[in-house]
Amino acid sequence: VIRASGIHKTFDKKQVLEDIHLTLKKGKVLALCGPSGCGKSTLLRIISGLEAPSKGTVELNGTAINRKALRHPSIRGRIGFVFQRPALYPNMRVLENITLALVEVKKLSRRQAEEKAYDMLHKVHLADQIHAWPSTLSGGQAQRASIARALALEPEVLLLDEPTSALDPELVHEVLEVLRTLAHGGTTMAVATHELGFASEVAHDVAFFDQGRNIETQATRDFFRSPRSPRAARFIESIL
Ligand code: ATP
Ligand code: MG
Repeated sequence: VIRASGIHKTFDKKQVLEDIHLTLKKGKVLALCGPSGCGKSTLLRIISGLEAPSKGTVELNGTAINRKALRHPSIRGRIGFVFQRPALYPNMRVLENITLALVEVKKLSRRQAEEKAYDMLHKVHLADQIHAWPSTLSGGQAQRASIARALALEPEVLLLDEPTSALDPELVHEVLEVLRTLAHGGTTMAVATHELGFASEVAHDVAFFDQGRNIETQATRDFFRSPRSPRAARFIESIL
């Protein structure tokens, strides 16, 4: 579904990503792992089109993704993004947070949009909070609402940048549970995560990064059993 080729990124002469090649296969989950600052967020932002690469291309089903393409209604909404911190509009209730883009971008009627929003909230076990204001939600609830909002647009790919790292530990599992269900349902996802337990259980493949380079990409089981690089081996050991 997504193919990133030869991605380089520099910020003020500092090389943050170096020659990254990555494919995201339909129905699969790819975990992006690696130490803080290795470039996971930057890569996800580039894949989503939020940030332009210094060099290289990202394709969605063979169509190049760039800012111009993203303004096009046929591309908009096809890549969903969930941020580290839930990013709900504070001045709208949960329902309107979800229906907004459905009405504005997808051109659904209000009624269709509300039905869709209800279905999505049900999926993330939040149907009872449909009329709540974002400020009254717990972190885990807000993050699940953000996921529902992204899913409502029926993206072909869902990108998640450490979706649980801003949450209290006891709320982490409720968000991971939702992601697990999505993965089993065949949602194509790339997740930057420090939750190696979750990655090892849910991801099909793991891409490991260090200092802006993709050190290795392997099937998840192989990555955790026999990482190819000493760097990855040390990383796994330090976290598990
Ligand atoms: P973490 O696990 O802490 O979230 P990360 O793997 O997501 O880290 P990035 O946020 O992608 O890492 O950052 C990679 C490098 O790029 C870091 O050295 C960071 O300081 C740098 N960087 C990221 N965004 C910018 C920016 N807008 N301007 C300058 N440097 C940046
Ligand atoms: Mg990050």
